[in-house]
Amino acid sequence: PYTGPSAAEILSKRKEYLSPSMFYFYNKPLNIVDGRMQYLFDEKGRRYLDAFGGIATVCCGHCHPDVVDAIVDQTKRLQHSTILYLNRAIADFAEALANKLPGSLKVVFFTNSGTEANELAMMMARLYTGCHDIISLRNAYHGNAAGTMGATAQSNWKFNVIQSGVHHAINPDPYRGVFGSEGEKYAKDVQDLIQFGTSGNIAGFISEAIQGVGGIVELAPGYLPAAYSTIKKAGGLCIADEVQAGFARTGSHFWGFENHGVVPDIVTMAKGIGNGIPLGAVVTTPEIAEVLTRRSYFNTFGGNPVCTAAGLAVLKVIEKEKLQDNAFVVGSYLKERLTALKDKYDVIGDVRGRGLMLGVELVTDHELKTPAKLETLHVMDQMKEIGVLVGKGGFYGNVFRITPPLCFSKEDADFLVDAMDYTMSKM
Ligand code: PMP
Repeated sequence: PYTGPSAAEILSKRKEYLSPSMFYFYNKPLNIVDGRMQYLFDEKGRRYLDAFGGIATVCCGHCHPDVVDAIVDQTKRLQHSTILYLNRAIADFAEALANKLPGSLKVVFFTNSGTEANELAMMMARLYTGCHDIISLRNAYHGNAAGTMGATAQSNWKFNVIQSGVHHAINPDPYRGVFGSEGEKYAKDVQDLIQFGTSGNIAGFISEAIQGVGGIVELAPGYLPAAYSTIKKAGGLCIADEVQAGFARTGSHFWGFENHGVVPDIVTMAKGIGNGIPLGAVVTTPEIAEVLTRRSYFNTFGGNPVCTAAGLAVLKVIEKEKLQDNAFVVGSYLKERLTALKDKYDVIGDVRGRGLMLGVELVTDHELKTPAKLETLHVMDQMKEIGVLVGKGGFYGNVFRITPPLCFSKEDADFLVDAMDYTMSKM
């Protein structure tokens, strides 16, 4: 049994000693003390079904024994920086990771986070092309350091400090966008930005395959192929941010970009890659990777033995437990059930996503699509009381983000939808 401080004591310490910017979910935040696969446990031992997986950070399940063993074994042997000496962990994982990527995407750089990965990717695109301008999508989230905050395109995540060189293209959002699901029409804006906002040559383009923080927005079909082709014509590199959509989450494919039939020049990843361990990566071609030899470049802990041992274990678990198939089968079932709920409750404006990356957008009005913020908070809170944790996102905070560990079962999906159904029926 748990004998540590209570939720109230932890909260008061956080208030006194931690940044006032740190936020948490729920009016009465949970004190989570244990995790086991798709479940989290509070200090009283109460079990919660985790349908948010720490924002897609836990892909194989909380404390998956294979990943824990890999971490513990490597920690007992050696934990060190990756510079100076050789060690097999980083090499083995880089090989395994590169083998999951198409074409000549074969060179891996490791970082400690998604922000760092995207910073590096954007810098490489700038070095390779000799250009500075980058295009990202409105409503995107790519990180919160100088360059990536520039690429992030939601005012609530942007501070008023210099963020130069990024142009934000119209978001190909099938639900709220002006062109509905006609991807190619939105892509024209990329051409316009290049033509009227740059010299005509650009460094690159960065986008998620499904926007996560932005509220599980699937890019309209046809958008990415058209945008990529425009970018290439302007000499730019295409960066796929797979921080959330990667690692088998979309079910039909291992990488989110594969759903759109494109092959990027640079792929960035984090979150699920380490099943909760701080790890990020940038994968690119040998030719592009060459730019970093122009100066000395290193990252002290990027790719350290413990984190890369965890990463390798994650890839093995995804394979061994057929988690991609599971994401497809359970995700399709869950989406079907959520879509049926949409027919039952007016408050649901849209159900979307792929595999185990699903979104449910709540609106008070189907015509105007007025965000139902309070209802979202209410349903989320009530579902927690029933024992189901879902995430929340979107610019207006009115989209449930359902991104559970990939071991989520059909029974879990039923429990989640039943909890949502019950809560909405009482509203
Ligand atoms: N890219 C995407 C798509 C993300 O969702 C996030 C984090 N929410 C990041 C990059 C940044 O990752 P990190 O928080 O690890 O820096």
